[in-house]
Amino acid sequence: MKEKVKLLDDSLLRDRAYVGGEWIQAVSGATFDVVNPATGELIGKAPHMAAVDVEHAIIQAEAAFGEWSARTAKEREAPLKEWARLIVANASDLAAILTLEQGKPLSDAKNEVLFAASFVEWFAEEAKRTYGEVIPGSRRNVTYVAIKEPVGVAAGITPWNLPCAMVTRKAAPALAAGCTMVLKPAEHTPFSALALCVLAERAGIPRGVLNVVTADRPAAEEIGRTLTSSHAVGKLSFTGSTAVGKRLAAQCADTMKRVSLELGGNSPFIVFADADLDVAVSSAVFAKFRNAGQTCIAPNRFLIDASVHDEFVKRMIAAIGELSLGDGFEPGVTLGPLISEDAVQKVERHVADALARGAKLLVGGKRADRKGNFFLPTLMTGISPEMAMSCEETFGPVMGLATFTSEDELLQRANGTRLGLASYMFSRDAARIHRTSRALQAGIVGVNTGAIATEVAPFGGFKESGIGREGARQGIDEFMETKFICEAFPG
Ligand code: ADP
Repeated sequence: MKEKVKLLDDSLLRDRAYVGGEWIQAVSGATFDVVNPATGELIGKAPHMAAVDVEHAIIQAEAAFGEWSARTAKEREAPLKEWARLIVANASDLAAILTLEQGKPLSDAKNEVLFAASFVEWFAEEAKRTYGEVIPGSRRNVTYVAIKEPVGVAAGITPWNLPCAMVTRKAAPALAAGCTMVLKPAEHTPFSALALCVLAERAGIPRGVLNVVTADRPAAEEIGRTLTSSHAVGKLSFTGSTAVGKRLAAQCADTMKRVSLELGGNSPFIVFADADLDVAVSSAVFAKFRNAGQTCIAPNRFLIDASVHDEFVKRMIAAIGELSLGDGFEPGVTLGPLISEDAVQKVERHVADALARGAKLLVGGKRADRKGNFFLPTLMTGISPEMAMSCEETFGPVMGLATFTSEDELLQRANGTRLGLASYMFSRDAARIHRTSRALQAGIVGVNTGAIATEVAPFGGFKESGIGREGARQGIDEFMETKFICEAFPG
């Protein structure tokens, strides 16, 4: 598996899972293939684990919890900071592994690795600020204190679209809070998660504190059930599809497990007549075509004021013409492959459905004429609310434009989804920005920008796009319980 990519440090690429500080195979000895989405070639094999392996990992995480949670926040900070430092120091190798299994352009992969490190650094420090409260007593001779404690063993299940950042966005706050973790990365991208474990081990994070179990898709449900039914696991943090998230939330109800869910989005991207169109176009390209449209915050519905629609289209055609599609390792490539053949077929279905219902195709519209899971960057106009691409996440490099003529109509359209994750609005009118940003039913509003993800701000959705927040102080709170201590002093 090592000939395609030249790493500075070959030992980052592991074909074993990391449990209790050991690099192990599945008990069954089974493995599964991991393939490069740009070429279809086999990258390597990872352990195909099952319930028994996960039970072992939970035991290891439970055993490590006592010592890790007893540390002060400052004592936990040192190895976490070192982990962050090592992630940055090994960014080019981590990026190469990421591009190999996920496909995104190498420069984007590098940015993701730095983003991943930012969560570790930020939460390492934030642990020291998980303040409680001293509350004035309502009786004499009592002290009321509310403190925060880690929830215990936390479970994480992560997706393939950000194979490094989604791991640290969960593991960093969990570990900083004093939890230990069992994490299952997506079947498409196990090697990035395992490379992060190599660095966690080197950073001195004790054995059993971070455990990564890998498995192919057919075992995902069994692994999910093992994690959600365990009394030892206090919390599940999941990022993935809305359907799986709902199922996991239902499973967690039995043990009343805490849950954080980052699920699907159906983000509106709104361009008002008074917008700076250059900013709107460059932001649209960044937000929509980054990661080939495979992010939960990718704009899915472009709503453009009718008076600037034609000009927006003209500039967008030019901007799309500058995208360069190809293998993420090729220099200058800005648009990589989709993760799988299934993903390409879903995008094809959305385009065909839109065209059958009257949309107009201006650019792209089909798979690229080359090996691998490539779809051409696509621009369509005349999108209406009943089309599949208005109702479901397309998760591909397809931009479909619709027009609006009044703010009321716009808000009705923009909020007409159960998935209120992100939204974007472009305007230079301060009053309109104030009004609209408050009226949008979404957890995140980008005003005149397409870059809305940062470790320092709360990230999460309204309605069926999730529960809880990641990043920021809210992100560490998700891994802590509040305990009220009511101390009476008789006499
Ligand atoms: P996607 O369709 O983008 O792969 P999923 O929600 O299906 O999104 O997958 C996100 C993560 O959830 C992956 O790690 C996947 O293996 C895992 N997963 C999929 N189905 C289940 C399930 N029934 N229970 C637990 N985890 C699951």
